[in-house]
Amino acid sequence: MRKRHIGLLAAMPPLAGLVLLLVHTARVACVSIPIVDASVDAAEEPTFAIDREEELGEESGGRVGEDSLVAILLGGQGGHVLAGSFHVHTTASDGRGDLDDVSRAAARAGLDFLVLGDHNVDPPPAHYRDGVLIVPGVELSTSAGHLLAAGAERTAGWTLREEDPVGAARFAGGMAVLAHPVNRRLPWTGDWMSVDGMEVVSGDSLIREAMARPFVRLLPAVASLPASTTIGWLSIHHRPAEAFESWDAHPHLVGLCAHDAHGYEGYFGPFQAMQLRVRLSAPLPEDPKSAANKVVKALMEGRVWCTLGALADPAGFVLEKSFEPRSLTAALRYRDWPDSARPRVLLFRDGEKVSEGIFEASVSPASDGLYRAEVFLDLPWIWGRREFLWLFTSTIQIGGE
Ligand SMILES: [Zn+2]
Ligand SMILES: [Zn+2]
Repeated sequence: MRKRHIGLLAAMPPLAGLVLLLVHTARVACVSIPIVDASVDAAEEPTFAIDREEELGEESGGRVGEDSLVAILLGGQGGHVLAGSFHVHTTASDGRGDLDDVSRAAARAGLDFLVLGDHNVDPPPAHYRDGVLIVPGVELSTSAGHLLAAGAERTAGWTLREEDPVGAARFAGGMAVLAHPVNRRLPWTGDWMSVDGMEVVSGDSLIREAMARPFVRLLPAVASLPASTTIGWLSIHHRPAEAFESWDAHPHLVGLCAHDAHGYEGYFGPFQAMQLRVRLSAPLPEDPKSAANKVVKALMEGRVWCTLGALADPAGFVLEKSFEPRSLTAALRYRDWPDSARPRVLLFRDGEKVSEGIFEASVSPASDGLYRAEVFLDLPWIWGRREFLWLFTSTIQIGGE
């Protein structure tokens, strides 16, 4: 009799834990996406294109502000903002799904393009599949860590990858991006100056950090999966402080977010949760090769920002520049943003915070430098509230060219 009591007592904590996890799953099932339902202010749409003479790059758009020209550097809705996924694995290496699985999930999540990143294999040429542009790319294992050659049409041999990691990425072609450079298992130990970009947010690093904090991050994420793989993915997302510090020490790098998707929980959840966005001056051309070149060029030039689109439609975000005096503004322009979600906007110059505000952050006059923005949303979450890094832009050069 006494033994049975002790047995029951011992079973209580695991049973209580199981019930808690089931309740968590049930609560996740009630979450609707996007979590913030706000419509974008149509009046703020860019209305004309600005050419290179304005030192803005041919892909910029703009609008006429109250007293001057305003050029939209990043964000906005235009007609030609594309959403995509960077660094996708398929069955060509250690991914769970083939190209059809991946492209179908991407189409369902509303993505326009994917950048492949299978390990050390020749990728397929650029093509459209299920209406999604497949951009070739290869993840190179080198003696200094992993490098993603985005847009590359071939891999590089081991001898080159061992002796000259960045040279191997140049040999493969495309844009050389540090894959998960700040990582518990496989950090980048090579040169940071001669590459083009870095994965500031990396799905691989997020999973490894969640594994290191099993009760706070991993278990809630796993318990969410049966109800929503999107919420499961958002549960492990956070602002990786160390990666941002490394980036601020090398602000010349284009900052990206990468799913490093392997399809363990399917591809749809991560694709719906987070997207890379690029801004083009025209719709993607029909020819897949020139379309892929346009996407890679936009990435190379830093015309890119990273968003958690499952939290809120990011089309109302803009980073814009006005003239005389030259000023820079990062702003959220929505008609009916709910009071329950407070957006905090931050502007950085050369790795230092220069402005912060609710809905808007601005610097005037804006001196020469490498600028970037971050936007945080403080939201009602599964239990209580949570602050998310909802959006961050790549660095963009102002003046001094
Ligand atoms: Zn890797
Ligand atoms: Zn990878």
